[in-house]
Amino acid sequence: MTKSKKWEKINKSVEERPKLQEYKNWEELPPIPISLPIDGSIGTTGDWRTFRPIILEGCNQCGICWMYCPEGVIKKKEDGSFEINLDYCKGCGICAKECPSNNIEMKRESDVDG
Ligand code: SF4
Ligand code: SF4
Repeated sequence: MTKSKKWEKINKSVEERPKLQEYKNWEELPPIPISLPIDGSIGTTGDWRTFRPIILEGCNQCGICWMYCPEGVIKKKEDGSFEINLDYCKGCGICAKECPSNNIEMKRESDVDG
């Protein structure tokens, strides 16, 4: 799909826009601006996180968590799996909530080693 075709899709009314589930692969997603986190004046977001997201075995690599993470800290690796940059993850839990197969567990930082 060309870039302008993508924009045509998201410029339609809410009723006409494709639902997220209708996108078949990464290339069909409309372009969206995303800013990547950097260190703040009091350190990184990961320094004050209370809950840590952990991707469990059985992840089907659908990428939904990647799409929903508001911080842009979930990355797709070469092998197709996903990893979370814990330096900047704020522990909001949106990825765990949106994972369709409940493959992300939110663990209290004090209960996690390291
Ligand atoms: S807990 Fe929030 S910030 Fe961290 S990876 Fe999940 S969605 Fe992103
Ligand atoms: S949403 Fe869940 S199943 Fe999909 S890639 Fe993320 S962790 Fe894996």
